Amino acid sequence: MSGPVLVTGAAGFIGRHLCRALLAQGRQVYGLDLRIPGKTPGLQAFASPEPIWIQGDICFAETWQDLPAFETIFHLAALTGVRPSIHAAPAYLRCNLEGVAQALDACLRQKKQAPHFIFASSSSVYGGSQGRPLKESDLPAPCSPYAVSKLAAETLIQSYTRLYPLKAVVLRFFTVYGPGQRPDMALYQFAQALEQGLALTLFEPETTRRDITYISDIINGMLKAESWNSLQSASSFEVFNLGSGHPLSVSDWVNQLEAISGLKAVEKCFLARPAGDVSETWADLTHAASLLGYTPSTSLNSGLETFWNWFSCKGKVYV
Ligand code: NAD
Repeated sequence: MSGPVLVTGAAGFIGRHLCRALLAQGRQVYGLDLRIPGKTPGLQAFASPEPIWIQGDICFAETWQDLPAFETIFHLAALTGVRPSIHAAPAYLRCNLEGVAQALDACLRQKKQAPHFIFASSSSVYGGSQGRPLKESDLPAPCSPYAVSKLAAETLIQSYTRLYPLKAVVLRFFTVYGPGQRPDMALYQFAQALEQGLALTLFEPETTRRDITYISDIINGMLKAESWNSLQSASSFEVFNLGSGHPLSVSDWVNQLEAISGLKAVEKCFLARPAGDVSETWADLTHAASLLGYTPSTSLNSGLETFWNWFSCKGKVYV
């Protein structure tokens, strides 16, 4: 693929890494976000070369008017996080469903062929699903407004591929981590507590297991999905898990982080798992491996080391 590409949510954790990878391939990249690196207070500038930034809210039709033509859209912009969604269902549905509808309509308005649509979904759509490991064909059982918003968006995208000549791929990410990650995510919170000598709050860490995935594996999966999508027929829709395939208990991550950082938690507070959080995520990668050739290659130890080196470095430089 060589044409121009639009990344929504480009100023976020995954968006920045994706833009960096696309720019390294020589692609022309437009980055659409509410926030603009280097301009929005508190958001570090993007190192050169950088995307062509477009500031706007994906929920507003005006944001999508007069955009330059693009070959692919990676739609990442969203309200994120399971727990905050529990008391903010209307806002999550507006951004994560209505925002997707605006993006889809903008794609169909493009003069030439509709762009390839690559959507960032989440393992949270599986929720209380009983499958182990979780396959794309398992019945979703979302446990939070965030998960519902992602599943509803997936369904909306699928309906557009039935109505129009649109090629779409849905990627269900399993807990992504790495340099630049969101401060609200568990790993960042653990690292912060270790660094500051504060107590770690852990929710049933022995029995809570997460398939956590290093950022570069996710980016490779996204690029493979784009290439695969371009080879499909006029209208197509496919869902893929992107994970590590190796769930680990939260206790295991904390132990490894303590070993890598050389710091010991001063205290650990154990609490019941909050509403909306599931006990385990575990990605079945058979489908992504056979169709996309997706093979995550970063071990937890090396991923955590890179994460810690970034986290503990003064000034935390973002990509
Ligand atoms: P992030 O919060 O770092 O990035 C999201 C970006 O979207 C932000 O820069 C934000 O400003 C932008 N945004 C939010 N609302 C917007 C709006 N109305 N208009 C324009 N921009 C808006 O999140 P992330 O971790 O990089 O996640 C990226 C995508 O991947 C999201 O769709 C998320 O749901 C999905 N995902 C992430 C993970 C993970 O572990 N990080 C796991 C599963 C799925």
